[in-house]
Order: sequence, then C-alpha cells, then structure tokens
Amino acid sequence: MDTATFRTRLSAWLDTHDLTPDPADDSLDAHVAQLDRVRRELWEAGWMRHGWPEAVGGVGGPSVLRAVLGEEVATRQLAEPGLYSMVEVLVPTLISYASPTLAAEVVPRLLGGREQWCQGFSEPGSGSDLASLSTRAVRDADGHGWVITGQKVWTSLAQYATRCVLLARTGPDPGHAGISAFFLDMDSPGVTVRPLRTMHGVDEFAEVFLDEVHVPGDRLLGSVGDGWRLAMDLLPHERSTCFWHRVAHLYTRLDRLIDQREKPEDEAAALGEAYLALHMVRCRSHATQRRLAASGRLGPETSVDKILLATAEQQLFDTARDVLPGSVELTDPAWRTEYLYSRAATIYGGTAEVQRNIVARHLLGLGKE
Ligand SMILES: Cc1cc2nc3c(=O)[nH]c(=O)nc-3n(C[C@H](O)[C@H](O)[C@H](O)COP(=O)(O)OP(=O)(O)OC[C@H]3O[C@@H](n4cnc5c(N)ncnc54)[C@H](O)[C@@H]3O)c2cc1C
Repeated sequence: MDTATFRTRLSAWLDTHDLTPDPADDSLDAHVAQLDRVRRELWEAGWMRHGWPEAVGGVGGPSVLRAVLGEEVATRQLAEPGLYSMVEVLVPTLISYASPTLAAEVVPRLLGGREQWCQGFSEPGSGSDLASLSTRAVRDADGHGWVITGQKVWTSLAQYATRCVLLARTGPDPGHAGISAFFLDMDSPGVTVRPLRTMHGVDEFAEVFLDEVHVPGDRLLGSVGDGWRLAMDLLPHERSTCFWHRVAHLYTRLDRLIDQREKPEDEAAALGEAYLALHMVRCRSHATQRRLAASGRLGPETSVDKILLATAEQQLFDTARDVLPGSVELTDPAWRTEYLYSRAATIYGGTAEVQRNIVARHLLGLGKE
C-alpha cells in the first residue's frame, strides 16, 4: 500500500474507532495501560503490522508506513509518544540479532500490546562512556547458559517490562570488544527493579539490580562479543522514526501554545522561530526516513537529527514559558511537566555534547581531540 492510501484509510478507521485516552487519569500507570490498548487495537485491526516483516507477524511494506502510523497516534494524542516509540528502538534490534524463532515468538507480543520491554544499557558510571560497563555475564555450570551480575540505571519503564535488551561484559577485554547482548526475562530470579522519580514527577525509569541471574543460551543476541555492534545499530533507531513521531507531538504543543497566547502581535517572532526549528527537524527526519526505507540501516549521521530535535524541543518549551508567563512555574501542570521533561532531551539517547563529538569525529573527520 502506498503512503497516501495508507494514511487516508488509517485516518478513516481512526475516525470511527475511538481510542481517546481517559483525560481524567494522567498517571504513568494509565499512560502505559493506554499504550497497551492502542497497540493491541492497531495490531488486531492490522495497522500496526504494516512496515514489519511477515516473519514477525507483520504484513511487510515500507518502514515509512510506521512513521505515518506513529504520526497519526501522536497528532491525535492517543498515546504518549515517548512510550509509543519504544517499539521503533527495540524491534529492529530483535529482528536483526535474535534467532528467527525467538523474534517470531516475542515481537508480536510487543507490537500487539501484550508486553513492554526495556533497554538495559546505562550503568552507574557508564552512560556516555558505555563501553566501560561492568555488568558481567559468565558461562553457567553446564556451559550453555549465562549468569549475569551487575546493575543498570535509568532503565525506562523497567517496572512495567517483561523483557530487557541488556548489555553485559562476557570477555576479559576492557572496552567494546568484550561486550555481548542478551534478551532477559524480567521475572527471572535475581532481578530487582527500583523505580526512580524524575524531576517532572514521574517514575519513568528505574535502577535494575542483577544478582546471579540465569539466562538461557538461546537468549544471547547475535554472537559472543556482538554487544557493541548491536548498540551501535540500535542507537540510530532512537533518532529516526521515533523523531518523526515526536515532531508530530511537538506540533500539537505548538498549536496549543498558539491557541493560549494572549498578546499575538508581541509573540509572533518567537513562535515563528520555534516553528522553524521544529520544521527543520521534520525536514531532516524526512530525509532520514527515506534513507532508512532505501537501505534499512542508519549510522552516525542520525546524531544531527538528535541535536536538532533536542534544540527544537527545548526552544519550544522555553517559548511557552516566555509567552505564557507563570504557566510553567505556577499555574499549568501540563506545561510544567513537559517543560521539565524537555530538559532530558539533551541527555537521553546520548547527550548533546556526545552527539557533537560524533558529528565532529565521524562526519567531519576532525579527529579525537
Ligand atoms: C529520560 C531518560 C531516559 C533514559 N532511558 C534509558 C534507558 O531506557 N536505558 C538506558 O540504558 N539508558 C537510559 N537513559 C540514560 C542515558 O542514555 C544516559 O543518561 C546518557 O547516555 C548520559 O549518561 P550519564 O547520565 O551517565 O551521564 P555522563 O555520561 O556521566 O555525562 C555527564 C556529563 O558529561 C558530559 N560528557 C560525558 N562524556 C563526554 C565527552 N567525551 N565529551 C564531552 N562531554 C562529555 C555529558 O555530555 C554530560 O553533560 C535515559 C536517560 C534519560 C534522561
């Protein structure tokens, strides 16, 4: 199905199938339950299957259809976009690195809203310098499985997750070479999850403690030592289709700001600049979507998307704070929550400084220093 037909049919379906969330409940529990509901309904009606391979329950077609679906979900405010986009980060990884049998078993559970998954990369002391991670996996007694011990932190939605894509050190070498990736069941004995409260007042992420957790051999993703390659393949997915969805969400916030402003003539320039910043990310993200559709792979060039997105998001909420005096600080919890969350845009998925280092080294060839 071509993009325009998909959008028209999807839009007509959404007009007649009410998936609107309950506006009275703004808790994280409610957002996660709504996300399950939206994914389940879209999967059962077939929309969520477009752009994914048949081997994992999809119906094929270009990946750009997933961008269109997420854009509709964000524009209609059916699900929180950050939570919704998690599939775009983890499913391509499972398809590339899990055995076909495992991918066929578990991917439909995530896409169909029956499970949440999380991403266990960061550790205390190993965020930007991910290659220094120290969670360790050793062979179990019979030599087939693994025993994992260590700690993860900032693991989004870990308290809701049934599975985790986890990095651990399997080799003696420090740095990239000794890292492997696992697909862990979060209900395994030895896993403890302790939610952390963010400054925007939500327990969005958690510490995850791993105390001699047994993982079967068929849950190794790729081969021993493939963890770094998996991470480098996964991170660009955090900066592609997810951003198309996020920009659609940010446009709804710009519209809201335009509706609420009190002195239109004084604010036109600031609103125009916020719009231009958003539109620039959208143009960049459009090109990224095309590249993803053409090659199926993305690389360090997505760091440019990340810098533009984080800048535009913070600029938009800074503009809201200026144009609606007191709303962020005093009177409007919705603006306050999103303003505070926008500060994380220069941290999650790689900080702004690290993205600039990647652009300097890998795209501009400026060397290490
Ligand atoms: C909302 C949110 C959700 C997240 N979800 C997840 C998740 O689900 N799973 C997961 O694994 N992680 C997650 N993270 C963690 C995120 O990936 C890390 O916070 C991020 O990689 C930065 O690591 P750090 O916090 O350890 O900071 P550090 O790496 O300690 O960085 C501290 C400061 O030093 C700067 N810095 C570090 N190294 C350099 C350098 N070489 N050059 C210049 N400046 C440098 C950084 O830019 C930053 O300003 C999440 C974070 C947030 C905020």
